[in-house]
Amino acid sequence: MHRLFQSRKLGWGLVLSLCLSILCLSLFITSPIKAQKTLKFATEPTFPPFEFQGKNGELVGFDIDLIQAIGKAADFQVQFQNMQFDGLIPALQAKTVDAAVSAMTITPERQKAVDFSRPYFKAGLAIAVKANNQDITSLKSLQNKRIAVQIGTTGALEAKKITGAKIRTFDNAPLSLQELLNGNVDAVINDAPATLYAIKQNNLKLLKITSQLLTEEYYGIPTPKGSPNLEDINKGLTTILNNGTYEQIYRKWFNAQPPQLPETTTIDNATSSINTITIISNALPNLLKGVVVTLYLTILCGFLGMIGGSLIGIARLSSITPLRWATTAYIDFFRGTPLLVQILMIYFGIPALVQGFGIKFSLNPFTATVLALSLNSAAYIAEIVRAGIQSIEKGQTEAAQSLGLGAVETMRYVIFPQALRRMLPPLANEFITLLKDTSLASVIGYQELLQEGRLIIANNYRSFEIFATVAIIYLVLTLLSSRAFAFLESWMNPVNKSLKGG
Ligand code: GLN
Repeated sequence: MHRLFQSRKLGWGLVLSLCLSILCLSLFITSPIKAQKTLKFATEPTFPPFEFQGKNGELVGFDIDLIQAIGKAADFQVQFQNMQFDGLIPALQAKTVDAAVSAMTITPERQKAVDFSRPYFKAGLAIAVKANNQDITSLKSLQNKRIAVQIGTTGALEAKKITGAKIRTFDNAPLSLQELLNGNVDAVINDAPATLYAIKQNNLKLLKITSQLLTEEYYGIPTPKGSPNLEDINKGLTTILNNGTYEQIYRKWFNAQPPQLPETTTIDNATSSINTITIISNALPNLLKGVVVTLYLTILCGFLGMIGGSLIGIARLSSITPLRWATTAYIDFFRGTPLLVQILMIYFGIPALVQGFGIKFSLNPFTATVLALSLNSAAYIAEIVRAGIQSIEKGQTEAAQSLGLGAVETMRYVIFPQALRRMLPPLANEFITLLKDTSLASVIGYQELLQEGRLIIANNYRSFEIFATVAIIYLVLTLLSSRAFAFLESWMNPVNKSLKGG
């Protein structure tokens, strides 16, 4: 080393390269290369051809291509995040995402909650019916009919205006079309391009749309109010509209010439000034309707589950081997698969399967929910019953039998009443779980408490107030139920009884 530094030539070279690297480094530190920013776009990926999953699970569609092109034109990177359609605007309000792209129509109501880009697509609502349906031809003929819609959409708003219509609300458009296919509703109101695409691409040949469009709508890209990114998005959109990229993407997905788009839609900049108290008190009547439904559902399913669970629990202790196996399989199945899957399977899967054999069969959301919740809770209750019975000492059975009681009588008069008292705490748990699980029925459009809340949010976009109210109502219901069970427990305690008696 020492020798090397003695060589002047090498020494200067080293100093020079050192200086150069310091210069580079300082340049890099003082004026960093401007890193490309990344914007997070939320989307609801079950709306072909705008956004859906491709063959390998990747996100594809018109909107997806459009945003990628806008990102390229306006020099930002794009990241997508999936969520439910009715969660998009609340997510923008909470600023958990930078923007959303989800075939979202620009409406004055939404403009109060978010800012929209310039319009990027011309669409409109259409009525979908079964191909052989002749009597539904217009909005008027939908009066008193059963209609399926997607939650929080313009289709859902339109359906609300129809007098006497029975509306079922689903999380996404494919579920509502499935509902029409299964014969549970007479029509679906949805965006025409999406419905047409679904009919063409999937095996929905049994469906058609009625000729007229109900509305003229324009899609926009929503961002949080006052977002600094809106300008970039608009700039990028204008660039690709002018340089032919937009037309290319349009042709790729719709095989047609894109229509002329306006530069703006009516701007309504009034921000909502309704206060929290008014929001909640306006929502309460509908939420209370939901409470009644939730309680009714819980009590009914708890009762049915109790009957089924007791029978299964006793059968599990039987000496007949196939019976034991069957009950074990039942319990394993219902405890081992998510309740949500069971609800969807009973409501959508089974009718579709049965209809595949040419048999006319459908379930309404109420029956499907009661079936799923009762079958599911029966599996849990069966285990509680089994454990309760097994906890009673053998000597009791022997004593009962030595008094001449048969097996059934022993169970009914000696074992079960004692076991029931021990079963009460776990049964209370099961009841409370059941009460909360009724909220899963919202996925099949059953209007229990949570669904009532979501429907309100889909109209007023006040997610915090409404979800908080819904949560508090559930809390009050579960606290009241646990108090009721505690009371029942002490009431059934023979020690308390004899104390009171004495
Ligand atoms: N365009 C409709 C709306 O904005 C539906 C959009 C969607 O389902 N993705 O309400």
